[in-house]
Amino acid sequence: MNDLTKRIKDLHAISCALEPSASERKTYLKQLLQYSDKFIEDLSHMKAFSGESATPNAMNLKSEKQSLESLLELYDKEVAAKGIKPASGGHLGYIPGGGIYTSALADYLVDVTNEYVGINFSCPSGVAIEHVLLDWMKDLFGFPSSAVGNLASGGSIANLIALTAARDKHQVKNERIKNSVIYLSPQVHHCIQKALRIIGLEDVQISYIDLDDRSRINADILEERIKKDRQKGLYPFLVIGSAGTTDTGAIDPLDRIADISKKYGLWFHIDGAYGGFFILVDRIKAKFKGIERADSIVVDPHKGLFLPYGLGAVLVKDKEAVYHSHVYRANYMQDAVSQESPVHPADVSPELTKHFRSLRLWLPLQLHGIEPFKACLDEKLLLTHYFRDGLQALGFELGPDPDLSVSYFWYPAKDPNKFNKILLEALHRDGEVFLSSTIIEDRFVIRMAILSFRTKIETIDKAIKMIERALNDLIS
Ligand SMILES: *Cc1c(COP(=O)(O)O)cnc(C)c1O
Repeated sequence: MNDLTKRIKDLHAISCALEPSASERKTYLKQLLQYSDKFIEDLSHMKAFSGESATPNAMNLKSEKQSLESLLELYDKEVAAKGIKPASGGHLGYIPGGGIYTSALADYLVDVTNEYVGINFSCPSGVAIEHVLLDWMKDLFGFPSSAVGNLASGGSIANLIALTAARDKHQVKNERIKNSVIYLSPQVHHCIQKALRIIGLEDVQISYIDLDDRSRINADILEERIKKDRQKGLYPFLVIGSAGTTDTGAIDPLDRIADISKKYGLWFHIDGAYGGFFILVDRIKAKFKGIERADSIVVDPHKGLFLPYGLGAVLVKDKEAVYHSHVYRANYMQDAVSQESPVHPADVSPELTKHFRSLRLWLPLQLHGIEPFKACLDEKLLLTHYFRDGLQALGFELGPDPDLSVSYFWYPAKDPNKFNKILLEALHRDGEVFLSSTIIEDRFVIRMAILSFRTKIETIDKAIKMIERALNDLIS
């Protein structure tokens, strides 16, 4: 053996540890399955929140090798037992997650096979899956098949892609930035402001539109503002509506905003990251009228379709506007991207190499069909009403009848802001069910957001009991 061969062989003796043997794989999987099965079975009586902080250095890398068994134990103690538990049906704060099991199966498969789905050439059928899902969403939201779309990591990146397209369509750059105006609801998700900064629009003029008494954009005021701004020589180019705001779940008057956008030549973007998929519930579909007229929309399957975190989708009607920033042909890619059709996912996103995340939606849709998703969404809407009824019976004041599954309430005590804050702290100490808070018209309110597929009528009964306990402690 010459020296080179010997060195290679010596290194192989060490590096081969990265390819576990069949029996090692079996053992790993068995341990992992045991842990995940127990986790799921324990969920219904696990707390939804624990305020316990992380043990210092517990997660540090160790110099000696660890067994999977000991790492799972550590995971259970440090990760699974602390903080908010998005997998729990008792998570009713912020916008809940979920994490349907069959998505996890897809993720496993995707990671083992590690297909490359940034461009069509490398995995045509993997890319086809992304297109099948995007076409399904185009159909759902009344977008034309000529629209482009992308499965991104979440709503923030999906919104970033849409806003970049709006910027490029209207050539908002250089001197034009300072005179350009974007119209927003003050309740828009903060990832919008973040995206604007990232894409160089920090210095555009942001015009916050007053809301009506149900936290929706007042379309008359919007139109007045646009007219006035144009008279002043400004350049209105973008209006952003929400199909379900984070704070109150409000759906802006989409159809009216579409009329106004068309009349004044503005790009109309809709953030439906939280609420968009409620369009699947036939009896409330009419609330989304006008969504089909938007230039771009964002929806989050890791919210409204109960997937584990890591999937947000964007649809944009104007393909060229998206391509302006996202298409780049490097020499070293010449054999990979010779043909333009079907659309390469990398041409609609800042990502080149991406997680094969389409499978985590495709597999559940194929395995379960769409009906359980529809039923689950409708169930969440009804549970919201059920929760409100229970709170009213306890003497709480309620926010307006909700558009979707976010609502808020407060107890009418003497110093209500202070009282409800103390009440929420007590609820967090209890932790059986997790609720968050917000400020609506200077009032501190407790907020419910019902979106986890594991939130059931028993969960709401538990929440009401927990609130009753805390309330009795405070007023007795
Ligand atoms: C959650 C949310 C976002 C942000 O999406 P991420 O998936 O968290 O990045 C944007 N808009 C709305 C309305 C949301 O609820």
